[in-house]
Amino acid sequence: MNDENVKHIIKKRMEKAGKALEKNNMAVYYADTKEDVPAIVKSLLKPGDVIACGGTMTAAQCGVMELIKSSEYGFIDRTAVPPEQIKEVYRKSFCADAYITSANAVTENGELYNVDGNSNRIAAIAYGPDSVIVIAGCNKLVKNLDEAIARVKTIAAPANTKRLDCATYCKEKGECMSFASGDSAEMTAGCESDARICCNYLVSAHQRHKNRIKVILVAESLGY
Ligand code: SF4
Repeated sequence: MNDENVKHIIKKRMEKAGKALEKNNMAVYYADTKEDVPAIVKSLLKPGDVIACGGTMTAAQCGVMELIKSSEYGFIDRTAVPPEQIKEVYRKSFCADAYITSANAVTENGELYNVDGNSNRIAAIAYGPDSVIVIAGCNKLVKNLDEAIARVKTIAAPANTKRLDCATYCKEKGECMSFASGDSAEMTAGCESDARICCNYLVSAHQRHKNRIKVILVAESLGY
């Protein structure tokens, strides 16, 4: 397979999703490589901005954490506090100037799909920070919400439960318990693990606050 041909297809799909996201009042930026991402993020920030982030592998892979931890910004570091203070950090994050996260899936219809356990991440995407910067690798692109749901149940959640060492069915079997049953009515049911990471489900569709959400689409596979 010719890499240039694959890149061409990936870019076409990114453009399709990007146009639909813009139609849904989200600003879109394109990056050929992960190395291009920090400069785009920097262009969306002001010196002195207070920045918070969700637990995002993607931002770390792109080198964005080094940027936002620089003295130019006020970074709310969720990893630097003891567990008893984490709730306070999550609440402070709602008042941040910018919130940086990835998405579990981006549809060609211009929706962002995110699933969360603690749900601090999806809460901040939906409301609070003045600006939300979403960095998504091309592996997050899906056709529609059905594919987004399947993606989380067969890739994102099993990989994240493995990463976080959560005692869940999907960590052991590689797919969600409800997905394995083949019953779409069971989309949210079945898993009663205390370590469940799929507790709340957020679809970001047409936005009332134009360009509050900025999506950086990267033509490389990043995160889960
Ligand atoms: S609901 Fe439970 S089994 Fe299903 S993907 Fe989420 S954590 Fe895994």
